[in-house]
Amino acid sequence: MSGHELRWNPLLDCWIIVAGHRKGRPWHSTFCPFCPGGSETQGEWRVLALPNRYPALSLNPPKVDEGCEPFIKSEALGVCEVVVETPVHEGDFQDIPLEQVSEYILLLGERTRDIASNPAIEYVMPFKNKGVLIGVSLTHPHSQIYAFTFIPPRIVREIESVIRYRRDYGRNLFEDIVEAEIRESKRIVYVNDEFILLLPFYAMWPYEMHIYPLRDVKLLYELDRYSALLLADTIRVATGVYEELFGSEYAYMMIFHQAPIKQVNKDYRLHVEFYTPHLSRDRLKYAAGVEWGAWVFTYDGVPEDRVGELREAARRIAGRLGSLGRIP
Ligand code: UDP
Ligand code: ZN
Ligand code: FE
Repeated sequence: MSGHELRWNPLLDCWIIVAGHRKGRPWHSTFCPFCPGGSETQGEWRVLALPNRYPALSLNPPKVDEGCEPFIKSEALGVCEVVVETPVHEGDFQDIPLEQVSEYILLLGERTRDIASNPAIEYVMPFKNKGVLIGVSLTHPHSQIYAFTFIPPRIVREIESVIRYRRDYGRNLFEDIVEAEIRESKRIVYVNDEFILLLPFYAMWPYEMHIYPLRDVKLLYELDRYSALLLADTIRVATGVYEELFGSEYAYMMIFHQAPIKQVNKDYRLHVEFYTPHLSRDRLKYAAGVEWGAWVFTYDGVPEDRVGELREAARRIAGRLGSLGRIP
């Protein structure tokens, strides 16, 4: 058995990646493969995209037979890359110069475009796991890119909602959300000329934050240099705020939601979602029985009461970061 395949969950209507070979990947090893001159990182560079050496999905996966109902399988076809954000072994976006974070954004766009040129690829999702608390195996600042031959369920759900909203109200859901957030102005953490950072009305995690664009942009590679700079600026505030609130051991996930490659929908918008399990420095919120068992999240507290802490943290760090926007 290859132990490397997609398995269909017929009850939940979604694929599971089975990656037996990934058990052997390095776990908190003392040698860093991403430091300059390491095994993975020869030459001069500031931001670097690499093939993932232990990919869950690949362009030449082992052949698998399809199986038959109810147990359907498919090849683990796709792409897994690693993006090294800086040659410096420590830190996070707020420690990396703005220009370089903007190069990182542009690189994610280039990788999206390149990976998407493969006809099998339907969806490209850059993301970052940060912090030992959520199981990161390598501390050198890095992100990852997963590219799928299918549109992931969470994105399917977002697209269906955007389509339904257009049909029911004749408007763009993303635009309405941003407009309502600006009108209410209760949950905004930070805003610059092109992006808004907020604790959403519908947050699932205590300190969840989303970045929404103030204009129409669907894919990372549509961002020009200036827009990439402003997105980088917003991301540095978001991760800086988490460090400021939760201390050096802070953890979060950052996910880029962009439009599917081939299925064009005029109402979808690129956005970035940050989930952190922190309730405070040393208390975590777990996705537990109700959350996993029902996919119903309970928000412990009220989003509007928490946003003040995020704003205060943003105010404390904005000067040091040289942020380009403002905190309401
Ligand atoms: N990795 C790599 N080359 C190496 C060592 C690790 O590509 O020399 C990959 C590894 O497969 C893993 C990623 O780097 O996917 C580190 O990712 P992270 O710790 O964020 O999360 P993981 O993917 O381990 O859950
Ligand atoms: Zn390193
Ligand atoms: Fe989303």
